[in-house]
Amino acid sequence: MGLMPARIIPLHDDRSLAVAMSPAAGPPSLPLADTLARPLRDLRISVTDRCNFRCGYCMPKQVFDKHHEFLPHADLLSFEEITRLAGVFTGLGVEKLRITGGEPTLRRGLETLIAMLARLRTPDGRVPDLTLTTNGSTLVKKAAGLRAAGLKRLTVSLDGLDDAVFQRMNDVGFPVATVLDGIAAAQAAGLGPIKVNMVVQRGVNDDQILPMARHFRHSGVVLRFIEYMDVGTTNGWRMDQVLPSAEVLRRIAAEWPLQPLSHSAPGETAQRWAYADGGGEIGLISSVTQAFCGDCNRARLSTEGRLYTCLFAHRGHDLRALLRGEPVDDAQLARAIAGVWTGRSDRYSQLRGTAQAAAEPRVEMHYIGG
Ligand code: SF4
Repeated sequence: MGLMPARIIPLHDDRSLAVAMSPAAGPPSLPLADTLARPLRDLRISVTDRCNFRCGYCMPKQVFDKHHEFLPHADLLSFEEITRLAGVFTGLGVEKLRITGGEPTLRRGLETLIAMLARLRTPDGRVPDLTLTTNGSTLVKKAAGLRAAGLKRLTVSLDGLDDAVFQRMNDVGFPVATVLDGIAAAQAAGLGPIKVNMVVQRGVNDDQILPMARHFRHSGVVLRFIEYMDVGTTNGWRMDQVLPSAEVLRRIAAEWPLQPLSHSAPGETAQRWAYADGGGEIGLISSVTQAFCGDCNRARLSTEGRLYTCLFAHRGHDLRALLRGEPVDDAQLARAIAGVWTGRSDRYSQLRGTAQAAAEPRVEMHYIGG
């Protein structure tokens, strides 16, 4: 195996799982809350560790080169395993399922998985919010099929409108026009509201902030600006490369007056702003300068079935071993997951820069889907 075993092995600690799973533990008391009283509401499911881009802030080409060994297919959770786990999470309070990667549309038969997940229901019969994050590279071909399979909406990553800037960032020479055509195809397929996420790096693409804002005003697309983050261990992050959201806001407000909007859902990561002239909405995701760990309700399932309780986690809990080991029923799985969540205390962004936060290597973002 390439990079991961040498430097980023997600440690899994099965001891806590065994205790939590024992029938003596009894059914989890709902709603679940972690040690900081945060509920479990949002599950991000990585369906592949592969991607056709090599964005420097996530999967730098010099690290994830042609020698990098991606996970063998047999190691990936099957669609049945993903759906079973998602069903258990939904029974524990999860209301939103986000499909991620790597680039999730590279997973063969993704539409089949979407259709399986779209049949899930919360304990009170509601349909979980089913969404997907993609780099948009395949949307022209895939949007209609994803919609027909039951996907509700999606988020597209696009870091600039200028081809030279965007291609420098995706590092595979992928053109902006194809992503824009993909967004149009998704809109035409009824996959909305569509969000576009732009990771802003000072001195790299911050000159694209206004062109992007101008392009998506009056388009129905919600454009969000993400502060560049120190995810994983391979992107060489430095604080002086971060352009604070406050500066992004200042630049846009200088062109188009903005009004604050309230959160649309508990635990939402973006601060929302509306153009005063009705030109639509933007969002600012400020994990570095305005940490939002206080109401973080997100769990992450890695491509091969490890449960992570933070984007910057040092270790994961191996749920796949439970699925493929001694037979366990869903009640045992629920107790295992509840045991992990109720013991959760992650708040990396609040601790960034402290010795505690820097103590161990962080899991790679492409492996747990951002
Ligand atoms: S740093 Fe971790 S705990 Fe904080 S908001 Fe991000 S994922 Fe949640």
